[in-house]
Amino acid sequence: MKVSKNIYKECPLCGETHELELRTRISHAKIKDDDVEYEEYYYVCPKSPEGENEFVDGKTHNMNMLNARNMYRVKMGLMTSEEIVKLRENYKMSQVDLAKTLGWGEATISRYESNLIQYEAYDSVLRMIRLNSYLTYGFLKKNKEKFSEEKYADISSTIAREVKTSGREYLRRQVLESEYIDFEEESEWNGYSVLNIDKIECIISYFASKLKILHKIKLMKLLWYTDMLNYKQCGKSMTGLVYRHHSMGALPIGHDEIVELDNVLVDKIEEYELTKYDFYPNNKLDMTILDLNDIGILDKVISKFESFSTRDIVEYMHKEKAYIETGNMELISYSYGENVDI
Ligand SMILES: [Zn+2]
Repeated sequence: MKVSKNIYKECPLCGETHELELRTRISHAKIKDDDVEYEEYYYVCPKSPEGENEFVDGKTHNMNMLNARNMYRVKMGLMTSEEIVKLRENYKMSQVDLAKTLGWGEATISRYESNLIQYEAYDSVLRMIRLNSYLTYGFLKKNKEKFSEEKYADISSTIAREVKTSGREYLRRQVLESEYIDFEEESEWNGYSVLNIDKIECIISYFASKLKILHKIKLMKLLWYTDMLNYKQCGKSMTGLVYRHHSMGALPIGHDEIVELDNVLVDKIEEYELTKYDFYPNNKLDMTILDLNDIGILDKVISKFESFSTRDIVEYMHKEKAYIETGNMELISYSYGENVDI
């Protein structure tokens, strides 16, 4: 039990207007036959006797109900009302507009943002459109006749903008993830970690911020050494990438898709029918994903290979046991991490 603040208002217990304590405590509520713990707000009148000094007004009651229902949503893995508000605001739509876009009853979103708990099927749709703005665009087109021409143009241009930014990153991540469909379980091929695209993006940005020139082949080698060294030290890869033996050394599956990620910043330079990729840092990424252990390993890899040209690092890798003992296009087991020494 804690006092959150004192409020001056009319007290229904003693009938006077005076200072009331607004307190909170952990309470239980039954929602859809489930017992849910939530934070309950209530007022205390200091002039009334113990046991008869608590009350809840209409506004506080509604807030408590919302809290309890949101706790139920969290428990059941459903989106909370705040998350639904955030999703809608991201698309700059009113409650009615979003409901119409999805072909639902006009009041549906308004209810989900307050007290009504959404069915799982509706929750799935909301989750999908949160990630995939291209899908939202598809829903909007399908329900075009529900909007005035002007309104439709307005909403579709906002969604189109979203598709060009976060939507594109989402689609590209899906392509990369689809390359890893056979590696969703932890194994010697992914170094007992599953693919972590957020981390890959941060690692690339970190390398790019520390190295004056960073081209694709060198980057891919740095990733391999990072993962192998992490495996050697912690028994797990850092990124979950799976590497194959290529003539130029180890390359991760989906290396072309990694370069195409929207959060991976790169200049493409066309040179004699060959594309050169020059990576640079992305200051918009949340670099806190990299912990101290990660940074330690990245710095070690950087200090070893900083001055290596692409050719130097390829030649260096050719001497690795992991390279000598595997055939062309074969997967490279992380167990070779034990032999990596830099
Ligand atoms: Zn009172």
